[in-house]
Amino acid sequence: MDLTQTAEVAAFRAEARAWLADHVPASPLPSLETAEGFAAHREWEGMLHADRWSAVSWPEEYGGRGADIVTWLVFEEEYWAAGAPGRVSQNGISLLAPTLFDHASQEQRARVLPPMASGEVIWAQAWSEPESGSDLASLTSRAVRTGGGWLLSGQKTWSSRAAFADRAFGIFRTDPDAPKPHQGLTYLMFDLRAPGVTVRPVGRLDGKPAFAELFLDEVFVPDEDVIGEPGQGWRIAMSTTGNERGLTLRSPGRFLAAADRLVALWQAAGDRSDTALRDRVADAVVGARAYELFTWAGASRFAAGGSIGAESSLNKVFWSQYDIALHETALDLLGADAELAEGAWAEPWVFSLAGPIYAGTNEIQRDIIAERLLGLPKGRR
Ligand SMILES: Cc1cc2nc3c(=O)[nH]c(=O)nc-3n(C[C@H](O)[C@H](O)[C@H](O)COP(=O)(O)OP(=O)(O)OC[C@H]3O[C@@H](n4cnc5c(N)ncnc54)[C@H](O)[C@@H]3O)c2cc1C
Repeated sequence: MDLTQTAEVAAFRAEARAWLADHVPASPLPSLETAEGFAAHREWEGMLHADRWSAVSWPEEYGGRGADIVTWLVFEEEYWAAGAPGRVSQNGISLLAPTLFDHASQEQRARVLPPMASGEVIWAQAWSEPESGSDLASLTSRAVRTGGGWLLSGQKTWSSRAAFADRAFGIFRTDPDAPKPHQGLTYLMFDLRAPGVTVRPVGRLDGKPAFAELFLDEVFVPDEDVIGEPGQGWRIAMSTTGNERGLTLRSPGRFLAAADRLVALWQAAGDRSDTALRDRVADAVVGARAYELFTWAGASRFAAGGSIGAESSLNKVFWSQYDIALHETALDLLGADAELAEGAWAEPWVFSLAGPIYAGTNEIQRDIIAERLLGLPKGRR
């Protein structure tokens, strides 16, 4: 592909860089996994939105800039290079929004997208259940028909940031007699503060309280909050997973910026005689660049009308392993105490350990790569 930047993209880059230089908080916000940090990050989303930087790839009518995928990637590079805060709106912006663009009604898009872009409504993903993670189609939480809507009951788990979020989206069984598990499911949005919802934090390794499980007891959801047709929930959910595994969740800008920080750390704290550690720093730089080029290749195919599809599983395995290696290198550079400290490397290191699990485990991704990309025979399940 041609990596030459057009004048238009260069102007966009300069505008984004200048805005970020003026607005990125001078010191890091508190962790978004705490109540205080969540509120501070929500405020940051509002600042981004005020100048239409919160969802640059969305159409202008919903608060975006109508940016194409190449321009969006450029924005991401600038965003992470500027040391800007992690995105508390990520579930809404990178998972629910693409689903709404593909499957929702005009009324739903007009109602749901603007407060998502401004950070006024922050979304949690309520897909997983205690017995349904990789085998999501076995889920048992149900939605039962009632006047003007549905009553949700059951348990959802591992819901990122749900302890402080406002609303959630998930799939529910609406036809328990459907012949196959992935049939008879319906995709719904619901309020996390509605009567019948109990949100209970799930303990994390670092003790932060935002991760949660949800108990639902006849929670009313109006018909207007069903996405697509009842019974079509599986098809709609599967169109979202490519976004989660692929580049919208982990754009290369984030890793390029982290690799730069790692090099700075090596220059400041590295033991020059430790060539093994130096090589791991070099691997991190090469890995970020390789991921960037792989992503640009995918983006140019996408821009030419192709789809990303099963290839997003390659991205997922790569970025999740890369993230762990990069953070372990930083901790080895810093020494034994670094694992215990709060700080620029310890919290993201703990989070990186979950990368091979969330967004579909790496074992499942390898199955997809083997079967759909390499054409190998299906394994025994
Ligand atoms: C930090 C974090 C954040 C998360 N955030 C959310 C969220 O916001 N919303 C949400 O809905 N969920 C979320 N999840 C849940 C996540 O999607 C699930 O943990 C994941 O899908 C795995 O499901 P499970 O935990 O039930 O493990 P299981 O499915 O029980 O898997 C256990 C092990 O068996 C392996 N395995 C299972 N089936 C197969 C197979 N067919 N072939 C080969 N190996 C297999 C798995 O790879 C894994 O190693 C999050 C998880 C984590 C860790």
